[in-house]
Amino acid sequence: MNIFSALESSVLKLSRRNFLTYASVSTATLLAARSQAEAARQWLDPRRVQATPASPGDRGTRTVYSACLGCNARCGTRMTVQDGKLATIAGNPYHPYNMRFDPLEYHTPVRESLQTPASVCGKAHDAPNYVNNPYRLVRPLKRSGPRGSGQFEPIEWDRMIEEIVQGGKLFAHVGEERRVPGLAELNSDRPIDPKAPELGPVRNGFVFIAGRDQSGRQEFTSRFVKEAMGSVNRVGHTDICGLGFRMGNFALTEKKEVELKADPLSAEYLLLFGANIYEATQPGINTYGALVASRSAAGKTRFTVIDPRATNASAHAEDWIAIKPGQDGAFAMGMVRWMMENDRCHTAYLSAPNPKAAAKVGHGSYSNATHLVVVEPGHRQEHRFLRMSDLNPALTGEQASAYVVLGAEDKPFPFDAVESAQLDREATLVGPNGSTIRVKTSFRLLAESARRFTLEQYAASAGVTPEQIVRVAREFTSHGTRAAVCQYHGAGNYASGVHAAYSVAVLNALIGSVDRKGGYLKGSGAAGSWNQGSFDLKAFPSQLKAKGVMLSREGASYEKSSEYRRKKEAGGSGYPARRPWFPFTLGGLCVETLSGIDQGYPYACQVLFSYFFNPVYSIPGGQRFASTLKDPAKVPLHVSIDVCINESNLYADYIVPDITYPEGHYAFLTPHAPALKFTAVRTPAIEPITGKTKDGRSYGLETFLIDLALRAKLPGFGAGAIPSGDGKLHPLTTGEDYYLRGIANLAESAKLPEASPEEVSFVEQNYPVARFKAMLSESQWKRTCYLLARGGAFTGRYRDDFQGENHKAGVKRVALYNEELATCRNFRSGALIPGVATYLPPEDAAGNVLERADSDYPFALVTHKMNLHAQSRTTSHRWSMEVFPENYVVMHRDDAARLKILDGEKVRLISSSSPQGVTGKVRVSTLVRRGCLAVSFHYGHTQMGASSLPVRSADQVFLGKDVAGPQGLKGDPRLGTGILPNDLGRMDEALGGLPLVDVVAGIPDFSSTRVRVEKLSS
Ligand code: SF4
Repeated sequence: MNIFSALESSVLKLSRRNFLTYASVSTATLLAARSQAEAARQWLDPRRVQATPASPGDRGTRTVYSACLGCNARCGTRMTVQDGKLATIAGNPYHPYNMRFDPLEYHTPVRESLQTPASVCGKAHDAPNYVNNPYRLVRPLKRSGPRGSGQFEPIEWDRMIEEIVQGGKLFAHVGEERRVPGLAELNSDRPIDPKAPELGPVRNGFVFIAGRDQSGRQEFTSRFVKEAMGSVNRVGHTDICGLGFRMGNFALTEKKEVELKADPLSAEYLLLFGANIYEATQPGINTYGALVASRSAAGKTRFTVIDPRATNASAHAEDWIAIKPGQDGAFAMGMVRWMMENDRCHTAYLSAPNPKAAAKVGHGSYSNATHLVVVEPGHRQEHRFLRMSDLNPALTGEQASAYVVLGAEDKPFPFDAVESAQLDREATLVGPNGSTIRVKTSFRLLAESARRFTLEQYAASAGVTPEQIVRVAREFTSHGTRAAVCQYHGAGNYASGVHAAYSVAVLNALIGSVDRKGGYLKGSGAAGSWNQGSFDLKAFPSQLKAKGVMLSREGASYEKSSEYRRKKEAGGSGYPARRPWFPFTLGGLCVETLSGIDQGYPYACQVLFSYFFNPVYSIPGGQRFASTLKDPAKVPLHVSIDVCINESNLYADYIVPDITYPEGHYAFLTPHAPALKFTAVRTPAIEPITGKTKDGRSYGLETFLIDLALRAKLPGFGAGAIPSGDGKLHPLTTGEDYYLRGIANLAESAKLPEASPEEVSFVEQNYPVARFKAMLSESQWKRTCYLLARGGAFTGRYRDDFQGENHKAGVKRVALYNEELATCRNFRSGALIPGVATYLPPEDAAGNVLERADSDYPFALVTHKMNLHAQSRTTSHRWSMEVFPENYVVMHRDDAARLKILDGEKVRLISSSSPQGVTGKVRVSTLVRRGCLAVSFHYGHTQMGASSLPVRSADQVFLGKDVAGPQGLKGDPRLGTGILPNDLGRMDEALGGLPLVDVVAGIPDFSSTRVRVEKLSS
């Protein structure tokens, strides 16, 4: 039985289960279920899986506690090194993620911990193959032919540094006479556009885009980009990583938090919107998924999967609701409507207008449900909260700015003066000089929004039945506050996704489960501070402050731009802007950065650094950016820092070889939600295997940025770059100068004791970082050893995170109405954006509903991740490739029968943006909604070893000598199996034919691509 048929039989059982009442389940069935549950519990106990690795002290063996980067879930690792090579990876028993929230007591001696097994997921086990990937670069490359030709040659490190700093006619040898700008000429405070001074200085022509980065390298690169070069353009990749669901939380918490999730340890019911918890989630599948699985098997929790595709978790779910892609908001707003009309909201919580009132009804957070919003047309506060000063201009200070609520008989009060206020109400109040002000409560505005459509209309939009919405809403509201949604990448990662994700998030507020045990929780934060303390890693002499507007326009208002002013002065409305601006976004908009680079808007890019980033592969429609990267007029200089030649840095001018995470990637990792307080620390287990500079430092990100800074005479690097509390200045000439001092700060801030002589010796004999110990005092080093020996500071426990039922570190205020969102405007029309959760179908920038616009393409395409694969590492994860060597176009069997397509046959998928289409093999299944096709990521690579390339002196450039030949790199077509669904990604013709994004927050669209299927002859 393959994985598809096993899951199908589970889901068929699940459908049957929906017809059973609990009363009809026989005693024998219950007993059998109990014994199965017990078996599952034993099997899933991390103490029973993954044998203890060889003990330290075995000949040639070392053990290092560190942190994984097989994905961004931040699990701990126990890496075993034999004869200098990474041998195995297991989990860290001190780390709650490896122990399903029940880690070893933190002060347990390290010797004992080594006997305690702890789990990591399958992806992590492939780390040795990732490190030893023969296609890894060990020497820097310079382009020796046209961009994209794959012609590269090795270049000496120092010469590369010189060329990137100084610029010049760097490619004259390949017939390019243009002058390439270097970093030195961008080190200037002249305005980048004298007609638009708000855009900032010339420095902003330097753009750094980071793919996978985490705290540690994140701050290190920010130091270089923002504080040494002074550019605002250090951009993350949150947009393609899952901006959609985070924007829902961003709106719900008024920009305070983005990582909130259902509590897997105490929830009685979880509602999973687009959350693939058994295959890809944060915390990882061996944490979140395993906890939910074991509690579900024990009968302690139930959950429903809402997803166009039956995820693996569907096998254990109460129900799998095969929703239409991009319609999570319709389902959620249907629930909101039913909950409001059937008195299923937590009205006592919602009626509490301030923290004290909420505490009286037992809650640690309060909502703005009762706060009044001005709806009086033309009032200067229209769409904003009414403040007491709007009623009485004589008030000052806090009295003036207080929100207003309605008491009995519609009498207005400051929000903090009453214990309860009217919830679902509108009124006309008397303002200054007898003026009238029409107001509504936030709750009333949400209720009106929910009533825009009937339950039947919501169900039709979501492609489900009204009964399914009602059934889920009834279950969701039957567990008090021990229920919550867990929304993830599937929910909201599409155009109009901000309001979809806000609609999903607000469900938690309506039952009062935000920051309640078993409810919707944020993380509890870090165990301590790492970048300040004895050593100041934030401030340094001559530090610059980056100014201006980012190329992505994130966090900037179009209405404050010179472009808007000029259009207004010319007599127009000021609209449209050339491209959207994103004042209300979490940010990390790599897609809009690249679109800005393509369009030279709002200004031109001069020098692009891309780090661990493969946009041509990883962005829906990303292949469009190949032409951007290829064009020297749009990207005059492109430097990539990466471990391999990938589909994007194929177009780079220089590629700097980087190290992998077992060789470095120092990091300080705090928990994703829910709850928990810790800082896991990543340090290397093995010495880097990249080449070395003349003075013996390994090639990699840190060495590269340090050497550039020294050559360009930038502040913050070199001698005297790190101040300490004793008034001294310390050098920053290696990564360890920065990171080891950070670890010492953390050990001090977390108040860790000094390690015993045995544990100091354990670190000194096992951890490569120990050779830098001389930069710390003896006491600092001993405390640092205490932390290193345990892989981080894990002093907090889940049980300590709560006071009664309330999360101590929780969100304090929850927004049913978001004033800031409500005062943002559409970039084309200038129309205001709704400030409450509401249903909006996915649209392009011109306002065309995408489902309608692409009605000639009958199938919706959905994408997903698999449990053993990771985007940028699949080709090197040899063991995972053996298990799942290719992907499929998963098609419902009814659709396959109608089109006369058999399992395994080849089809071409064609979208409106990809008339040439892509070709893949069909897997006929019932695990996907009819009318949808599901294709996993990870496959369809054309680089990373999949193609031969004319790289000169390949035997000196790549790690594996057997992949080098006289013609250059020898590709292995087996690494290019399967298809890449992103190649079909929907473009937005209204915005220059560039990848489609949500115009409110810049969310890339992963759900609106529609395709036609052509059967190919077998
Ligand atoms: S989920 Fe797996 S790959 Fe991701 S961090 Fe955890 S162990 Fe590593």
